[in-house]
Amino acid sequence: MTKGKLFVISGPSGAGKGTICREILDEEKNLRLSVSMTTRSPRQGEENAVHYHFVSREGFEALIAEDGFMEYANVYGNFYGTPKKQVVDWMEQGINVILEIDVQGALQIKKNYPEGVFIFILPPSIEELKNRIMGRGSETEETMARRLGAALQEISCIDQYDYRVINEDLRAAIDRVRAIIKAEQCKINGEEVDRIIHRYKEDL
Ligand code: ADP
Ligand code: 5GP
Repeated sequence: MTKGKLFVISGPSGAGKGTICREILDEEKNLRLSVSMTTRSPRQGEENAVHYHFVSREGFEALIAEDGFMEYANVYGNFYGTPKKQVVDWMEQGINVILEIDVQGALQIKKNYPEGVFIFILPPSIEELKNRIMGRGSETEETMARRLGAALQEISCIDQYDYRVINEDLRAAIDRVRAIIKAEQCKINGEEVDRIIHRYKEDL
């Protein structure tokens, strides 16, 4: 069986990663989102094990000690990480997986798994980014400033990514990310070449 592909989606907080991923996941059957673990508090409406696995610092450190993360990072003062087991199991079953993670995490994944597909979501402008973060309504002035300060730092790592999508018109951005995922699934992969040739030879 062909292994699932790993799609890594990053971009500044508020760029629209979550919104875009939710829409795509609703439509693509063979695609799942890895639920990250975090030490940050839930926002209003966020559910444990759906949006994140919300844990204490001790809970997070326990999984680090077990080598249970594919990657983890301190983002805006809280820890966030991708639990390894679920992602590996899905990929073994041929299921494609999205990781919605920050640049530090994406670079760790790229080092260990360069065959991943790295997609960067950009806001149309910093002004619009500010409006979107404010619209979400969960930041204080201090955490907002931290998120905006980090945005430029994250954007400066865009050369490490394979694709960039500007999220101005939401529908257009969703279509682009979906097109990238579809094109990547049609890419010829060394592991499956023999199997493809064999299948056609058998029919001769
Ligand atoms: P991220 O996951 O990158 O932090 P979100 O998906 O939470 O960002 O989006 C931040 C806010 O911006 C949300 O309130 C969302 O509804 C809004 N948003 C997302 N995309 C667009 C867009 N293209 N135009 C206007 N608002 C958007
Ligand atoms: P938020 O607090 O807005 O949900 O997320 C803040 C940032 O943490 C976003 O850039 C998001 O992509 C990133 N993030 C979420 N989960 C993970 C993860 O598992 N690992 C890493 N490295 N970053 C994550």
